[in-house]
Amino acid sequence: MTTPRLTDFRRIVVKVGSSLLVDARAGKLNESWLTALADDLAALHRDRRDLLVVSSGAIALGRAVLKLPDGPLRLEDSQAAAAVGQIALARTWTQALSRHGITGGQVLVTLRDTEERRRYLNARSTIDKLLEWRAVPVINENDTVATSEIRFGDNDRLAARVATMMSADLLVLLSDVDGLYDAPPATAASARHLPRVDRITPEIEAMAGAAGSELSRGGMQTKIEAAKIATGAGTTMVIASGRVEHPLRGIDQGARCTWFTALGNPVTARKKWIAGSLEPRGTLTIDAGAVAALRRGNSLLPVGVVRIDGNFDRGDAVVIRGPDGAEIGRGLCAYDAGDAQKIRGRASADIASILGFSGRAEMIHRDDLVVGRE
Ligand code: GLU
Repeated sequence: MTTPRLTDFRRIVVKVGSSLLVDARAGKLNESWLTALADDLAALHRDRRDLLVVSSGAIALGRAVLKLPDGPLRLEDSQAAAAVGQIALARTWTQALSRHGITGGQVLVTLRDTEERRRYLNARSTIDKLLEWRAVPVINENDTVATSEIRFGDNDRLAARVATMMSADLLVLLSDVDGLYDAPPATAASARHLPRVDRITPEIEAMAGAAGSELSRGGMQTKIEAAKIATGAGTTMVIASGRVEHPLRGIDQGARCTWFTALGNPVTARKKWIAGSLEPRGTLTIDAGAVAALRRGNSLLPVGVVRIDGNFDRGDAVVIRGPDGAEIGRGLCAYDAGDAQKIRGRASADIASILGFSGRAEMIHRDDLVVGRE
């Protein structure tokens, strides 16, 4: 195969591990490495790519600042350490990006924000807005508040969920290893590197031992979990070594790494998800003008909606029917049934005065909409 280049992708999530960012022995950030990474990010940004960073390092950095002893931390200790480290992390990213005139925006999420529909929609529209403003969202888990049941615990899977939530077409995991080997490379001299994985078979999973460095939580196993989430939702993933200066440039220059091929593309994967795997909670009946607009690929505006049935929440899947009752499509409604009822048939410009808050102009955004064939 021809190796992909980063500029082949439109929206790229770059995950940076703690052990790359934080020099444990010196107890401080690897500033020069981060500066070089920011140069690589800036080059992609200039090429009009959408960039998102998932950065670990809050706990490791907080631990260094607080001079906590080595060894595993209790949950409350690591949460408090993250509170200290996250501030430093955010400042570092802002500085590194602003040297290139790029604005960074800190987004802290928990597992729930990527799972519960309302929070998911919210997190997604916030991040979308940052991207629209050409800012770079710098994302981490909200370690200070996330209790075990709402925790990812590792940023590999968090990054994969962010990538799929944002319909990114590439996820780059910068790690302390340069990809997947068929045996642990540290101990087996004969270990063979895999440049490309098209399908995550049980053999591939078996290759991913639980090896990990001291600072990073995610060993190869969590990276394979991340690959499953990403590729299944149409996002290509690559594991590359971050132990070099300019690691992104390195990928384009043919550095050794492992590519995980996406199954389909993110848009079709998302649409498949909306069309097939979500239980519709209600029905919107729309007028003929709206049917025509939807078939042209437009969003559904409140003005075209004539009737609301069902008791759905914001972000729930609904069926869309035409004036004759025939199903036109399905989508995720940006309003709950009560609010939808109030704004149906009305101009989007009136939403704020009717509801008392300014919600989205669309009842269902076209990215959240699947329209069937006529
Ligand atoms: N969220 C954690 C931190 O910022 C890191 C988790 C991980 O390394 O995967 O410290």
